[in-house]
Amino acid sequence: MGKTDIGPPDYKKYLPPVIQKNYGKWKYHEILKPGLLKHVGESGEELYTVRAGSPRLLSTDHIREICELADKYCDGYLRFTSRHNIEFLLSDPRKVEPLLAELKNKNYPVGGTGHSITNIVHTQGWVHCHTPATDASGPVKAVMDELYEYFVTMKLPSQVRIALACCLNMCGAVHCSDIAILGIHRTVPKPDHARVMNICEIPTTVASCPTGAIRPDPKTKSVVINGDKCMYCGNCYTVCPALPIADPENDGISIWVGGKVSNARTPPMFSKLVIPFLPNNPPRWPEVVSAVKNIVEVYVKHARQHERVGEWINRIGWERFFTLTGIEFTDKHIDDFTMATDTFRSTTQFKWG
Ligand code: SF4
Ligand code: SF4
Repeated sequence: MGKTDIGPPDYKKYLPPVIQKNYGKWKYHEILKPGLLKHVGESGEELYTVRAGSPRLLSTDHIREICELADKYCDGYLRFTSRHNIEFLLSDPRKVEPLLAELKNKNYPVGGTGHSITNIVHTQGWVHCHTPATDASGPVKAVMDELYEYFVTMKLPSQVRIALACCLNMCGAVHCSDIAILGIHRTVPKPDHARVMNICEIPTTVASCPTGAIRPDPKTKSVVINGDKCMYCGNCYTVCPALPIADPENDGISIWVGGKVSNARTPPMFSKLVIPFLPNNPPRWPEVVSAVKNIVEVYVKHARQHERVGEWINRIGWERFFTLTGIEFTDKHIDDFTMATDTFRSTTQFKWG
């Protein structure tokens, strides 16, 4: 195939030599301690991975520092995981302890491996996106400060993946994480009629609504939104900036649990709603922090070894989950969307709490 300038270069060019040589030929791997993995190839060659947390939004100075560490200890080879952990990839075992010592010295949190809470994957938040119902880095920092001990140890029953998306377009993995923090809007967009006609295309705006809640209004050359049909997704605002949806009083956070991507033991699972609304309370989001911490602590106390949050809940039943966590069950937990009937429990077998 001829060379083009389209698309990224082949990632294999950037793999450390030890990975290139042993690609697809690894014999086994083990976690030596929190934040340190060892891979051994069939050739006998070894790869050491040191994992450290990152705040995701990185200054150029910080990126330079990370690169300098990689130059010093691992011939410049490092990568970022999908949950924004930094991974230093070393082929020389003698450099592992000096790197760990320097990371400790520089206050990098080392961990996030095995049965831990690894870095929280999160979205853009107030710093960058136009539709957020909450911030991203702010609540994540507040939650991780509280759960830090679970990052640097591996004492949980299984790994706990936490994700945050600041609206339900969810650039984060909130649909399939053990605990998901999801920003929600609760009010209908407010059309600015004078601007709609100047900056928006009416047909595209109407077509952008997944529930058909928007119709054109020829009289005003703007649009009308049917509040009963609106599910506050903010999709129309992405297409037409004259339909702002942000609402400081009514925007906030919902908590979802029990999702996972893994195929181990049970098929992958979607996260389910457990707390419909918590207020935005910056800068430390105390309500969100204590809600997430409570779920983690109840899970730690009651789950069996290797059981993910969703697997634990499926074993004990949702009724018992709500009893143990003290979370109130409300009408908001009942899915009344058109396609919800498929998901309703249609058996008389209940696990009473
Ligand atoms: Fe923007 Fe929504 Fe993505 Fe957050 S989740 S960055 S608000 S689109
Ligand atoms: Fe439709 Fe979503 Fe806009 Fe509501 S917020 S009008 S559901 S696109």
